[in-house]
Amino acid sequence: MAVSILLNSLHSGFGRFKQLYLSEPREETVAEFVHLVRKAEIILDCEAKDLLKARRRPFKKGGKSKGNAKSKQDKSTSSCLYCNGIGHYKRECPKLKEDQKNGTVVPSSGTKKK
Ligand SMILES: [Zn+2]
Repeated sequence: MAVSILLNSLHSGFGRFKQLYLSEPREETVAEFVHLVRKAEIILDCEAKDLLKARRRPFKKGGKSKGNAKSKQDKSTSSCLYCNGIGHYKRECPKLKEDQKNGTVVPSSGTKKK
């Protein structure tokens, strides 16, 4: 009877263990039962780790194969030909736009060519 009390005191993570245990009733001593629980605990722990790994893997793979992050990275490391600023191209350069506004630079010289 002590075993069933222990069984009920297990947290929800042992739901499958409980089912398995109850599906084939055995007359275990408390010590033997505790041993089983320890074993199950290790298995559950491994499964939890596997789940975490499985979750991480596709995320890493997808990010690399998509190439989405790569194009972003290229932009962040590319430098502007106009002001040598990092993170934007010449056609997006805020300094160039401002200079064009001020009339320091003639717009056609930089924007005609793609
Ligand atoms: Zn710039």
